[in-house]
Amino acid sequence: MSTVGETLNVLHPLVEKYLRKERMPHMACSGCGIGQVVHSVLLAIDELGLTPKDTVWVQGVGCSSRITYSTWVGDNVDAHHGRMFAVATGLKMARPDMNFICFTGDGDCGAIGGNHFIHACRRNLDVTAILFNNGIYGMTGGQVAPTSPVGAVTTTTPYGNIEDPFDMCQMAVAAGASYVARWRSTDFKALTNSLKKGIQTKGLAFIEVLLQCPTNFGRYVLKSSNPQDVLTWIKEHSVTQKEAEKLSKEELTGKYLIGEFVHRPERTGIVERYQEFLKTHQKY
Ligand code: SF4
Repeated sequence: MSTVGETLNVLHPLVEKYLRKERMPHMACSGCGIGQVVHSVLLAIDELGLTPKDTVWVQGVGCSSRITYSTWVGDNVDAHHGRMFAVATGLKMARPDMNFICFTGDGDCGAIGGNHFIHACRRNLDVTAILFNNGIYGMTGGQVAPTSPVGAVTTTTPYGNIEDPFDMCQMAVAAGASYVARWRSTDFKALTNSLKKGIQTKGLAFIEVLLQCPTNFGRYVLKSSNPQDVLTWIKEHSVTQKEAEKLSKEELTGKYLIGEFVHRPERTGIVERYQEFLKTHQKY
């Protein structure tokens, strides 16, 4: 019988082409949505013709980053917890010619790295950042996250979460990112197209994906570790922007809006401005 890794190599030419085989099989739990998102990322990279020579992966800490950690066949840079944007800023400023695909989670980006996230948006850093939002701290065992819904029972909120969740897409739009979108892990085609658009847009592309975490969100919040139950919950708690037009404010409470929120490719960012600055001020 073949191992999962061998099966992956056989079944997924994108894995064969772009991921390090010694890092397979990956570490995600069965039924986790992270693999679906990585599949979209690889397809977007492939369809755009990016290569390991011109593209670098950067990740923070958490389930999002544990899966992508050192898997890309090109250069990978692993940042400390919450510091993905800080590290990506230095890398992009030093190598503006390279593409940077950055992976982060809702705990990594919205909590410990929240300040870096806001300022990366304000600076409109020219990278593509993918936020894996599972609504809970996954890797560390199911603690409440800034994205956990109101009432969520987690290992640190045994009587239910009393805080409102952080809408990180709204923050990215308000702070100045060039491209902002949110999808579900099941929106494969829309997500892949959005990734391609984001990678091609100058400035920060911030793409959030709502994904199923059966191991922690399912187990603690929904009292079911069945991935299908988490997918159903995500479906019931999300609406496209078109669907939202027909709903009242009350009906939209607790719902995630799905779609593209902003695309402003004309907005310049820190990388271009710094290059211009150097032309004027660099003496040697
Ligand atoms: S803990 Fe949740 S998010 Fe993390 S790998 Fe497992 S299912 Fe995925």
